[in-house]
Amino acid sequence: MRKNIVAGNWKMNKNLQEGLALIDALKVALADRDKVNCDVVLGTPFIHLANAVAAVGDKKIGIAAQNCADKASGAYTGEISAAMIASTGAKYVILGHSERRTYYGETDATLKEKVVLALANELTPIFCIGEVLEEREANKQEAVVKSQIENALFTLSAQDFSKIVLAYEPVWAIGTGKTATSAQAQEMHAFIRKTVAEKYGKEIADNTSILYGGSCNASNAKELFSNPDVDGGLIGGASLEVDKFTPIIDAFN
Ligand code: PGA
Repeated sequence: MRKNIVAGNWKMNKNLQEGLALIDALKVALADRDKVNCDVVLGTPFIHLANAVAAVGDKKIGIAAQNCADKASGAYTGEISAAMIASTGAKYVILGHSERRTYYGETDATLKEKVVLALANELTPIFCIGEVLEEREANKQEAVVKSQIENALFTLSAQDFSKIVLAYEPVWAIGTGKTATSAQAQEMHAFIRKTVAEKYGKEIADNTSILYGGSCNASNAKELFSNPDVDGGLIGGASLEVDKFTPIIDAFN
């Protein structure tokens, strides 16, 4: 059955010392718990990856990059390849975040290349999809999300698709304090699962973890995660402090 996952996305926050201090605090907090009922992932800046992998040590916390290059290697100044990420011991890569799509011009076509390279290097893509406010207001959210999934992911083999984690992040909810209602999240997650089932079959769809992202926090996580098709969260702001992040992990207890 599919995994529950709570993944932090630090974005461009935390210098090395601050990041390592946060990991230490999180390890202490999780060690206190008898049981953690979800996988915990931290999306750190590239430059902290190797240190973060060393700091988590016991592998109870997975480390994610927040992007990777759409080329395997070569003369691409400033880029970081999937192979480089994998060589640090990181196990995940967040791809297609709306900030990457909006500010750095990432398209379904480049994301498709990134997903293939991530999988070839045994990284688990946490692939983000979601509509902007105008699309929601025009009731186009399903069409938008469907085309993002189809264009970037539906050329994958069933075996490769089964390694993908999806994150539904309505762009109007990211960093705005405006969360999708529990019902809106469930409706979209069920639609996404149906879209996957139509292409790859029910078994793969049922085994795909679909995370919710967008102003998810300690006070709304439990309700959001209690929906049958919401398998955890991709957490931005609330992942930057241990006291805000651990209650989200505890939402599965
Ligand atoms: P937020 O960000 O939790 O700060 O809204 C979520 C994300 O962008 O992944």
